[in-house]
Amino acid sequence: MTSNGTLDARDRGATLSRLATERFDVLVVGGGITGAGAALDAASRGLRVALVESRDLASGTSSRSSKLIHGGLRYLEQFDFKLVYEALRERDLLVSKLAPHLVKPVSFLYPLYKKVVERPYVGAGLVLYDSMEGTRRPVPRHRHLSARGALKRAPALSPDRLAGAILYYDAQVDDARHTLTVARTAAAHKAVIATRVGAVEVLRGPDGTRVTGARVRDEESGRTFDVSAAAVVVCAGVWTDLVHELAGVQAGYRVRMSKGVHIVVPRAAVDSDTGMVLRTEKSVLFFIPWARHWIVGTTDTDFDVDRAEPAATEEDVEYILAAANRVLARPLTRADVIAVYAGLRPLVDPRESNGGKPTTKLSREHVVGVPLPGLASIAGGKFTTYRLMARDVVDAAVADFGRDFGREVPGSVTDQVPLLGADGLAAVQPAASRLAEDYGVSRAAVEHLLGRYGTLAEELLNLIRSDAGLARPLAEGQPYLRAEVAYAVTDEDALHVEDVLMRRTRLFIESADAGAGAAADVAAIMGRLLGWGRRRRAAETRRYLDLIAAEQTVIAVDPDPVSGRALAG
Ligand SMILES: Cc1cc2nc3c(=O)[nH]c(=O)nc-3n(C[C@H](O)[C@H](O)[C@H](O)COP(=O)(O)OP(=O)(O)OC[C@H]3O[C@@H](n4cnc5c(N)ncnc54)[C@H](O)[C@@H]3O)c2cc1C
Repeated sequence: MTSNGTLDARDRGATLSRLATERFDVLVVGGGITGAGAALDAASRGLRVALVESRDLASGTSSRSSKLIHGGLRYLEQFDFKLVYEALRERDLLVSKLAPHLVKPVSFLYPLYKKVVERPYVGAGLVLYDSMEGTRRPVPRHRHLSARGALKRAPALSPDRLAGAILYYDAQVDDARHTLTVARTAAAHKAVIATRVGAVEVLRGPDGTRVTGARVRDEESGRTFDVSAAAVVVCAGVWTDLVHELAGVQAGYRVRMSKGVHIVVPRAAVDSDTGMVLRTEKSVLFFIPWARHWIVGTTDTDFDVDRAEPAATEEDVEYILAAANRVLARPLTRADVIAVYAGLRPLVDPRESNGGKPTTKLSREHVVGVPLPGLASIAGGKFTTYRLMARDVVDAAVADFGRDFGREVPGSVTDQVPLLGADGLAAVQPAASRLAEDYGVSRAAVEHLLGRYGTLAEELLNLIRSDAGLARPLAEGQPYLRAEVAYAVTDEDALHVEDVLMRRTRLFIESADAGAGAAADVAAIMGRLLGWGRRRRAAETRRYLDLIAAEQTVIAVDPDPVSGRALAG
């Protein structure tokens, strides 16, 4: 790992020995978007930072969301104006300045079925929504459409009862890639980032009052060692209560898990040139354009089983299909579904007022706690507001640094820190054709790389220049290149095949075989860099195939007869 933000999996030994020997100001536990954000926030304030993630970056909720960077129109109805206001400002900052290569505007059509009541009501909400935007205005304002106008944009809609529509804009992101990029940007500010290292104990000083770091376990070798830090910041999402237990403390809140399921269908299954959002009995249902697919969801149900592998059920999928089919002219069927994935929302359930509220009604705002001196934790919130969450939890963690260590810590500066790959994007995008010519690849390949890596795309093109075989697609008919697998190892800390197929690329949710057909090739490319012999490569391939098979067992339903996919993600 170097300070240019490279997370080289081949340097893992050196990273672990830094963890064991250096003294840090802040140790972040958890490598989802909140933890990655906290590491960046603290490192860009000049602090010495380490982050430990027990599995892979974004392997929890942060790769399983709806992938929207949005204010959340429906929270206006819950009078959660502060949340919507803050989220919209964050959306605009990300689209216009911090991550324009990753966070992109997307339009949603909101069909109206009760002309007289609905149009003024939803229209007023959208006027408010648009007016809460910042001054940059990187996404267009909403506009009203007639029924005919709506059908022109979305012929997939059934014309029955359709009274018109409103078109509005939000933004979308590859959540796992964004999380990784935030972690890499933290590394560029000298944070030490270690994956497959879990916190197993919270350490306290000799007088037992102040937290002094954490005992961690290298999940690859089973070895445990101590990491010394002036403050520990817990960003463990739905695992937060468990980490509080490790510290032997009770925070002022508990985390309530709410499961959300999405299905993935081919783009051709729904004829529309815009995303769509429908009101459902309990909440809303999104059709989110996702390259050559639609992501359709989500659900919102209480969950209290296995945090690590939340599973979708037949019922979840049937619910989504039924909700979608209420408005579609050609109904979606199980045969259209190529993938299903589930994630867990870490919602805050304040101890005092948890009286059985349904999870759709629990606030998406975040809560920060300092249950012990030197231990700060955060829960709740949403992907969109991760930068504010990170700022707040780091503020809490360092609040007593002046008193206890004679050192005042400056405020957060992340609103001025573009993520890696953002700087200079405006000048690189128009050069796509020239880059394609210079590196001997297709323009489509360059555009694909620019859309995922921003200006860092040239690092992948250089890999291709030194090994032309890396320009080949990873799987037939898929946009991902073999170079992306090599880069995942040399720059993005991928240690296993699933890291590449589930999160560095998204073949797990984008291909009908969940990436199984590419697993051996991924193991071969990774193996060349990581020194895996033939047996290890076979074992890594098997590990991935077993992971998919295990999910089929977890959910205990037959795989879809057409695609062969089980209902899990
Ligand atoms: C279905 C669904 C849809 C959503 N859609 C959106 C959306 O469109 N827009 C939006 O803004 N938000 C959305 N959200 C919310 C958003 O995804 C979450 O708020 C966010 O991803 C939570 O990130 P996190 O870092 O707090 O948790 P996580 O991503 O779960 O990260 C916690 C990490 O901590 C690690 N960890 C746990 N224990 C330890 C330990 N002892 N040591 C080391 N590491 C540990 C875990 O492995 C995990 O990687 C959605 C959520 C769901 C479930």
